[in-house]
Amino acid sequence: MRITCAQCLRPEPLCLCALIPRLSSRWQVLILRHRSERQHALNTARLAALGLSSCYLWDGEAFERLPALLAEPGWQNWLLFPAVGALPVEQGVPQSPDVAQRLIVLDGTWRKAKRLLHCNPCLQGLPSLSFVAPPPSRYRLRKVPQANALSTLEAIVYSLEQLEGGSYQALLPAFERLIEQQIDAMGAERYQRDFAARNAHLQADKH
Ligand SMILES: [Zn+2]
Repeated sequence: MRITCAQCLRPEPLCLCALIPRLSSRWQVLILRHRSERQHALNTARLAALGLSSCYLWDGEAFERLPALLAEPGWQNWLLFPAVGALPVEQGVPQSPDVAQRLIVLDGTWRKAKRLLHCNPCLQGLPSLSFVAPPPSRYRLRKVPQANALSTLEAIVYSLEQLEGGSYQALLPAFERLIEQQIDAMGAERYQRDFAARNAHLQADKH
């Protein structure tokens, strides 16, 4: 039987906890993770939830508690999603001391994110935020629809940095290690064949 770390859920020899910080953010982050993502070894939502004290992770598809949460007074909710009319996260949002800000992040493939929207109509009326000029992803393993698509953890780091102005880079080393572990597990040969070409832009960054 394989023993896994109760915190990060990695196999014990690969535990990432020593690399996971405990940061606090002014924005609350709620990750809605499609239930099919939960067992994926490369899912990064848990790293965000462990590393940020005001980040919450819900697993499911139709979230029964969500309408009541979104209706709570004193909160402004924003959906991180490239909807028509989305505001650029780079511009920030109007803030008021009386209103707390919550960022809702959909975790899963593009198709699963759309499924979450469909199953939770209360999300559809929320104002949305999207990226104009995100950094290139360091996510070198999962197939992403465009070169600049970020993993969930990277998307949260970038959003908080744009919206709050501080640095959340300390969340990334655990993620980098996770990627390295997966590359090791896959074997260098297969990695070269399947992924090196797709990640040529990452190599170019080093020069
Ligand atoms: Zn751990």
